[in-house]
Amino acid sequence: MDSTERQKAASDLDGSDVADHRAEKRKAAEARELERANKEGLAFPLNTKPEGDKTVEVAEGIHWARIPLPWSLDHINVYLFDEGDSWTLVDTGSNGNRGKAAWEALEQGLLDGRPVSRIVATHMHPDHLGLAGWLAERHGAAFYITQAEYLLASTLWLGGTEAVPEHEVKFLFSNGVDQSYEPAIRGARFDNYRRGVSALPATYHRIEDGSLITMGGRRWRVVVGRGHSPEHACLSCLDEPLFIGGDQILPSITSNVSVHAREPMGNPLAHWIVSLDRMRAVPGNPLVLPSHGRVFIGLQQRLDALIGGHIEKLEALHKWCTECRTPVQTFPALFRRKITGMDFYLALGEAIAHLHLLEALGLMTREPREGVNHFTATGEFDTDTLLASTTKLPGISMRSLTEVY
Ligand SMILES: [Zn+2]
Repeated sequence: MDSTERQKAASDLDGSDVADHRAEKRKAAEARELERANKEGLAFPLNTKPEGDKTVEVAEGIHWARIPLPWSLDHINVYLFDEGDSWTLVDTGSNGNRGKAAWEALEQGLLDGRPVSRIVATHMHPDHLGLAGWLAERHGAAFYITQAEYLLASTLWLGGTEAVPEHEVKFLFSNGVDQSYEPAIRGARFDNYRRGVSALPATYHRIEDGSLITMGGRRWRVVVGRGHSPEHACLSCLDEPLFIGGDQILPSITSNVSVHAREPMGNPLAHWIVSLDRMRAVPGNPLVLPSHGRVFIGLQQRLDALIGGHIEKLEALHKWCTECRTPVQTFPALFRRKITGMDFYLALGEAIAHLHLLEALGLMTREPREGVNHFTATGEFDTDTLLASTTKLPGISMRSLTEVY
């Protein structure tokens, strides 16, 4: 999801007003999802979705459940695989009482007394692995995740502090945040990741691009995506047209792709676009099981829309920066709505990610003025060659999917 380590770990308690407001927002989001789906040619073949402890069987022995999240994105989809005498889970929800209560209800219901033997995490964001440690300990389950995700999760979990570190403050100022926000920035906490994630399992089983694992009696190939997180695992079923998309491919929202203060010169958008492009070679037309929203058909159409959306933003940004701009000053070219609250951090990270890709392609120049980055467009923006040029950047290209399968 768009939950980064910065995401607000809000209270688990809801007032009824808040709950009503959320229900309204959810309905509106669902209406938008359908509208977009029609436009893009996606189909939602199941007429139902999980609610409370009611799960939906998406294929024989594969059950879709929702775990509530204490954020504006109010749920994560998790998938449970019937292994006969036990269960395999993909993703867990974030740490907190509501998530734990949801799992306790599933244990009483669907799990029917059988233990969880394996937990697979698609990536390190709190809504995906926040309860992995808690569940692993409760059931004696093994934990499966890619190495980069496990190591980054460990770093963030161990590095959480109440005080905001200097390099975070510097990062914001150097990208155009006004110095008058300093008290608010320093007043924020920096331990949200640790609060959203129960102590990580102390050991893990490493999965990698191309790894083969069996879940629910079927063979699944790990397909790694990058950019939203460093080594995100999608799972492509070899025996049935099914694809677990995680946050790499969502039906109605675009996952956050941000430059973070710990890697201020990073180029995550290049990784994101190229790893999405590589997924165009996923065979067949699978039912996609995403981490948010509804399961859908239309992987190719959605990949086209996601990649196309970023290319449009890059072009708009290139035009907007005919005049020299700081990252904060690029928001009008990238976002239609007013950016407030925690969304500001996500928006800033995304704006910098778009600027850095243009810079790497020689389409943007950077000039630090009094410690603040200013960007000015240069060269000709060419929609047709952008993807090919991005693939050629150092360290970006991945082996073809035909080699992975
Ligand atoms: Zn995520």
